[in-house]
Amino acid sequence: MAGFLIAFGLVSALAGVAMAWHWSRALREVRRGVELLGEGRRARPVLVDVGGPIGPLVRSFNTASPLIQGRLDRLEGDREQLRVVLGAMAEAVIAVDPRRRLLLANASADAMFGLDGGSAGRLVPELIRSPQIQEAVEETFRLSPPDAFQGEVTLPFRDPALRGMVRTLSVRGTPLHGGAAAGAVLVFHDVTDLRRLERMRQDFVANASHELKTPLASIKAYAETLLDWALHDDDVNRRYLERIDEQADRLNQIILDMLSLARLESAQEFYEHRPVPLVPLLAACLDAHRGRAESKGLVLTFQPGEVGPDVLVVADEEAIRQIFDNLLDNAIKYTPESGAVQMTCSQGDGVVAVEVTDTGIGIPRDDLPRIFERFYRVDKARSRELGGTGLGLAIVKHLVSSIRGQVSVASRPGSGSRFTVAIPRHQAARPAAETTPPSGEGQ
Ligand code: ADP
Repeated sequence: MAGFLIAFGLVSALAGVAMAWHWSRALREVRRGVELLGEGRRARPVLVDVGGPIGPLVRSFNTASPLIQGRLDRLEGDREQLRVVLGAMAEAVIAVDPRRRLLLANASADAMFGLDGGSAGRLVPELIRSPQIQEAVEETFRLSPPDAFQGEVTLPFRDPALRGMVRTLSVRGTPLHGGAAAGAVLVFHDVTDLRRLERMRQDFVANASHELKTPLASIKAYAETLLDWALHDDDVNRRYLERIDEQADRLNQIILDMLSLARLESAQEFYEHRPVPLVPLLAACLDAHRGRAESKGLVLTFQPGEVGPDVLVVADEEAIRQIFDNLLDNAIKYTPESGAVQMTCSQGDGVVAVEVTDTGIGIPRDDLPRIFERFYRVDKARSRELGGTGLGLAIVKHLVSSIRGQVSVASRPGSGSRFTVAIPRHQAARPAAETTPPSGEGQ
C-alpha cells in the first residue's frame, strides 16, 4: 500500500512538473509575442495547446494578435503615405512640439533650412537661426485652432553664389490640438519670384504713367497757352503747334513700344522661325538709317566680312529687322556729329555674330547691367530730348531671346559702344547623294 502511495505521488508530481513546464512554455511564447507586437513586428500565434487558467489567455492572445498586427500595418501604411506626400511637396513643412523641438521636416524643409536627417528632436531655434521664423513659430503657439498664423518672412539664400540676397517665404502656421499631437505645423512657400514680378509690374505701371504724363503735360500746356493768348500771335503759334505735334509723336512712339513689349512678354506676337539670308536683311536695315546718319554727318558702314550673302540664320525676318533697327537707331542717336557707326559680321560655333559699333558717348560701367531693363536710361533728359522711350533695348532683349540668340554690350564713356547679337546659324542638311559611306562599308 505504501508502495502504491509512493508511486501515485511520484506520477502526480511528474504530471504536475510536465503541466507547469507546458504552461510556462505557453506563457513564454505569449510574452515573446507581446514583446514582438510592442516592437511593431509580426507575432506568430501560440500553438502550445494548454488548458486550465492559462488556456483563455493564450486564446485571447491568438485572437488579438492578428487584429493588433492589422492596425500596426495600417498605421505603417498611413505613415509611409504621409512621408511620400510630404516628400513630394514643393512647400517646406515642419512640425514643432510644445517644447519647440522639431518633430518632422520634409525634404523641401531640409533643403530650405539646411537640415539633415538627424534633426528631429532638436530645438528649432538652434536648427533654423532666423528671428522672423522664431516669431512665426511663437505666434502660431499663441493661437488656438481653428485660427492660423499667416505672414511673410525673409531668409538669406544658402547658396554662396547668392550671398547677400534674400528669398521671401510666405508662412502659414497651424496650432495643433492638445494631447499627444500638441504642437504646431508651419508650411513655407517660396514667393520670391512672385514678389519680384509684382514689384516689376508696379514699377512698370509707375514708370509708364510717368512717361505718358510727361508729353501729355507738354501738349496740355502748349494748347492752353494757345487758347489763352497765343493763337493769333503769328510769332509763336506755329512753333507751339509744332511742339504739340512733336509731343504727340512721342506719345505715339511710347504707346507703340509699350504695346510691342506687352505682346512680346505675353508671347502673343507670332514669329515664324525659318532659314533666312542674314546679310541682305541687315543691308536693307542699314539703308533705312542712311538718311538720318548722313543728316548728322555720321559715317555709316557695313562689313559682312566672311559671312556671305547666302549664309542663313534661323530667325524671323521681322524680329531681325526690329532688333537691328533699334540698335542702329541708338547708335546714331547717341553718337555726336561726325562720328561713325559700323555694322560687322563674323561666324563662330553655330552662330553668326553681328556687331553694331559706334564712336558715341558710351555707357558708364555701373549702368551696363541695367540698360536692357524697361524704361532704364543712363541720362533720362538726354534720352527724351533725342526721342527715346527707354524701351528699345528691352524689346531687343526679348526679340533676341525669341530667336534663341544672345545679346551683349561692351562700352566705355566717351569711346563708344559695341552691341553684339549672336544668332543661331541654319545648319543645312547634307543631301543624301553627297554623303560618303564609312570606310569598309559595302565592300
Ligand atoms: P532709349 O529709348 O532711351 O534709347 P533704350 O532702351 O534703347 O532706350 O536704351 C536704354 C539706354 O541705354 C539709353 O537711354 C541710353 O542711355 C543707353 N544706350 C543705348 N544704346 C546706346 C548707345 N549706342 N550709346 C550710348 N548709350 C546707349
